[in-house]
Amino acid sequence: MTQFNLILLGPPGAGKGTQASRIVEEYGVPHISTGDMLRAAVKNQTEMGIEAKKFMDAGALVPDSVVIGIVKERLQEPDTAKGFLLDGFPRTIPQAEALDEALAALDRGVTKVIALLVEEDELILRLSGRRICRACQAPFHVEFNKPAKEGVCDVCGGELYQRDDDNETTVRNRLEVYRTQTEPLISYYDAQGLVSRVSGTGNTPDGVYTQIREALGPAGE
Ligand code: ADP
Ligand code: ADP
Ligand code: ZN
Repeated sequence: MTQFNLILLGPPGAGKGTQASRIVEEYGVPHISTGDMLRAAVKNQTEMGIEAKKFMDAGALVPDSVVIGIVKERLQEPDTAKGFLLDGFPRTIPQAEALDEALAALDRGVTKVIALLVEEDELILRLSGRRICRACQAPFHVEFNKPAKEGVCDVCGGELYQRDDDNETTVRNRLEVYRTQTEPLISYYDAQGLVSRVSGTGNTPDGVYTQIREALGPAGE
């Protein structure tokens, strides 16, 4: 059985969440977004959520030990047997190393890394106009990806909101963190021959997805 052990890598605002829903639908793998999981912990005011919120509000990374723990636990779930789509993880070299070790212990490995690339000016426009569904986390944009009805999710009818960290100051920090801590992962996975680079600009979300599909190949059985 072909496994789809996938990583969606790219700067904040590149369109990872937007593309993730398309990938998981076609390839039948679960969407594992550490950002969504952390926001759920913040909302439920768990001990981890309260701690994580400080880092998230500052546009900094939550400590490696915390996110590595969350992902390792999630990868134990039976729905990951055929594969998974990691979105927003790994974000540092230690996270990537921990993932490689955890998968090796399960006799598995990452099979493909999609690097979704968008330049910085565009990222700022995307993040400052982003709106998220409170219920299903689907991302929209006030100009580039408008919902049919303002403030309402097309997918589930939930209420749209603006994330606390999608303000200009925090966005600049997040982009800096991406450049210094996360971008080096492209070389890390290039060394394993796993990276497909996809341009996330100058194209509709469906147009971008067509290229991702080509990089991933047929979904199989
Ligand atoms: P990420 O998960 O990488 O942070 P999102 O999927 O949330 O990114 O997308 C960031 C913002 O950009 C959202 O407001 C989304 O609607 C918008 N967006 C996504 N893809 C495109 C695209 N191809 N063109 C224009 N805007 C896009
Ligand atoms: P985006 O793709 O828009 O940057 P995410 O939803 O992936 O946003 O992440 C939001 C915030 O959650 C990050 O700025 C960071 O504080 C925290 N976070 C998410 N994933 C990780 C991770 N793998 N390591 C550390 N912090 C993370
Ligand atoms: Zn929704």
